[in-house]
Amino acid sequence: MTVTQSFIDGESVASAEVYDNIDPSSGRSLGAVARGGADEIDHAVASARRATRRWRSTPPADRAAVLTRIAEFLERDQERLAVLESEDTGKPLSQSRTDAAVSARYFRYYAHAIDTYYGHTIPLSTDLHVYTRREPLGVTGHILAWNYPMQLFSRAVAPAVAAGNCAVVKPADETPRTAVACAELALAAGLPSGVLNVVPGIGAEAGAALSAHPNVDYIGFVGSTAIGSVVARAAAERVAPATLELGGKSPQIVFGDADLPRATEFIVKAILQNAGQTCSAGSRLLVHESIHDELVRLVIQRFSQVTIGPGIEDRDLGPLISRKQQRRVEEFISYNTKGEVLCGGGVPRDERLNEGCYFSPTVIDGVDPASRIAQDEIFGPVITVNSFRDEDEAIGLANGTPYGLIAAVWTTDLSRAHRLAAELQAGQVYVNTYGAGGGVELPFGGVKKSGYGREKGYEALDTFTATKAVVVHL
Ligand code: NAD
Repeated sequence: MTVTQSFIDGESVASAEVYDNIDPSSGRSLGAVARGGADEIDHAVASARRATRRWRSTPPADRAAVLTRIAEFLERDQERLAVLESEDTGKPLSQSRTDAAVSARYFRYYAHAIDTYYGHTIPLSTDLHVYTRREPLGVTGHILAWNYPMQLFSRAVAPAVAAGNCAVVKPADETPRTAVACAELALAAGLPSGVLNVVPGIGAEAGAALSAHPNVDYIGFVGSTAIGSVVARAAAERVAPATLELGGKSPQIVFGDADLPRATEFIVKAILQNAGQTCSAGSRLLVHESIHDELVRLVIQRFSQVTIGPGIEDRDLGPLISRKQQRRVEEFISYNTKGEVLCGGGVPRDERLNEGCYFSPTVIDGVDPASRIAQDEIFGPVITVNSFRDEDEAIGLANGTPYGLIAAVWTTDLSRAHRLAAELQAGQVYVNTYGAGGGVELPFGGVKKSGYGREKGYEALDTFTATKAVVVHL
């Protein structure tokens, strides 16, 4: 039986216990996973700490060369990584191929960026030479979710390591294999031992140990709002900076003048990609009353053409991550007190899909905006619909949840687009599009219960460094 082990100080490390890695497409085991805990986390943090001194003083150009090689290795092994990702998550293979390509892009992007990342000089007075340095934080801890395992790994690790930090990653319980595979590739590409360590395990064990570890200088967390606040509390206890990338309930706001066929394409993709298990899924359709019927018809038409099957068969829609998640989505449907289920609404009636954790694409129209189904993240292929009369009502509905991750406005009125871009409570606003090429270059993160701090883009280098001001009397 293959066992996915921890990867610490450049070596595979076994744990006393293992757990099963379940394939969500079939319910069968994909192998065992080392159940890392406090001991493995201690070992990984100590190895990262030892590596810090040399890595932080490695010139940025040399760090950049290693990151570029990692990108090349990820590209070379794209197919192998994509298969692992599809098996672990159940997502269609073509989506995993994109995830592998975007992961490589993170390493390439930060290889370029770190070479041009400097401090400033500050003209305080003629007898003082004042400058700032951007210094790495030290050992960074990263706790990741299961929905985009490889992308989340690379978007955290690439800027952290580029900036001169050494990292310890706790991948999600359900999806440990690509993180370990990427760390092994990074070592082969020339990253020194200890700069990047991976400890798989259960959240309440390995995750809790990492977030509370006294020798970790920063915690990045990607996951649910509930666990995010537990992790942030542990970080606050020892005054370690934290970034929380949490859930969302992102609105697609469609005005009467929008290009409906184009909007439909994006609306459908933004809720069906990865079976709706995307933090930035466009899970609420807010539509002007004048085009409500037409847009809903177009969306349902597309939903009815969707093919469903195991990730590795690369249909349009794969399974949810687990039985637990499937039950959770079913439960959400029962929170719908007012709306009409226009399509889907349950597990597909297809015997061949019984062993997997599938859920049909679902449209629910006219939900109560205050109800749980309209307020909370469902994390499944379910879109709720509400119509609005005017701009103010659209903004009120859009901002009327506890979350604020991303939002989209569909309109050909440029002034309205900019008014909404300013009014919407979100970390990203898209106009007449949704998501953008993996978004490596775009600062990403939420407001309200979607979290705080920013990953991606140049800003991530600020996240992973501290500014030091140096003042010299001349
Ligand atoms: P989760 O909070 O259950 O788990 C996330 C991670 O935290 C896992 O690695 C888990 O093992 C770990 N964990 C669990 N309990 C812990 C504890 N007590 N201490 C420390 N770590 C612990 O979330 P999930 O169900 O895996 O992921 C889905 C959520 O992630 C959704 O809400 C989704 O929106 C969010 N997400 C957000 C982003 C973003 O960038 N904003 C990206 C992807 C996913």
